[in-house]
Amino acid sequence: MGSSRRSKSAVDKKRAHEGAPQLLSSAHQLFRRLKDVNVKAAMSEERKRPSITRSPLYENLSLPVSEAFCDWDISDASSILGGQGERQKCGRCGRSRMWFCYGCMIPLESLRAVLPKVKLPFRIDIIRHAHEAAGRSTGIHAAILSEDVHIHTYPDIPEYDPCRTVLIFPDGEATFESIRATERQTVCPVCGNLHQAFPYDRIVFVDCCWTQTRRIILDERISALHNRVGLKGRISLFWRPQRTRNPDHLATIEAIHQACSVWLLSQKCQRPHRVDNLLFFFKYMYDKISNRYRESEH
Ligand SMILES: [Zn+2]
Ligand SMILES: [Zn+2]
Repeated sequence: MGSSRRSKSAVDKKRAHEGAPQLLSSAHQLFRRLKDVNVKAAMSEERKRPSITRSPLYENLSLPVSEAFCDWDISDASSILGGQGERQKCGRCGRSRMWFCYGCMIPLESLRAVLPKVKLPFRIDIIRHAHEAAGRSTGIHAAILSEDVHIHTYPDIPEYDPCRTVLIFPDGEATFESIRATERQTVCPVCGNLHQAFPYDRIVFVDCCWTQTRRIILDERISALHNRVGLKGRISLFWRPQRTRNPDHLATIEAIHQACSVWLLSQKCQRPHRVDNLLFFFKYMYDKISNRYRESEH
């Protein structure tokens, strides 16, 4: 971890002296490297796999947490989330929850003051389907950690202006990197310096399984959103991969983090790693589940 932090600070210094294309290209290289490591590890895991099928829950846990997340600056969650002990009642609905209420989309009262607060470079809407199990959603992590994220439950969604909204669409041909900043300058909420403004008011993510996603995409309010981009070049670390999808199909929280990171790097943001805490719950859960998986191997 120590060496990765040193190398990260070296990368930061380098970033400060380079233009956006180089920054994006180095980000791509980083993600490609991560992909190679992940794919090799997954392949060797595949060969070792016993004839008894393990739960698909554990398929993506081949890297130790220190390696899997070493490129990001994520606060240590163990003292905050690990010390939580027992489930508590949600202050709003009274249901028993561990860290946050995925129904009310608020943190538990005891954690409200200690969870990281993440400022994002743009406003994000997440649309989830009413039939989707909210407890499995990683998009909720973003809404708990950042005031810039709002979750809407389909079919109760806002009317979006198609010219002012961009939809993240996994199979979209255009990529997020193709979005060009406006000429207008604006104060970056992440580092406080002036950057060129993001050209849309809002980014919309759809957070549910593919069947429900298709249903939402066909809704005329969403199908009218003609600005669609995909996020490519990063391999998911999510432990619940859907077998029919590409490995670069990201969990919603990974996709949100990727979009924010790519944009901030393209704008030569001074503090791009401030959005890494979007992965605060995600990393902690990865760590817990991968430890449990390794213990079950012995
Ligand atoms: Zn609640
Ligand atoms: Zn910035």
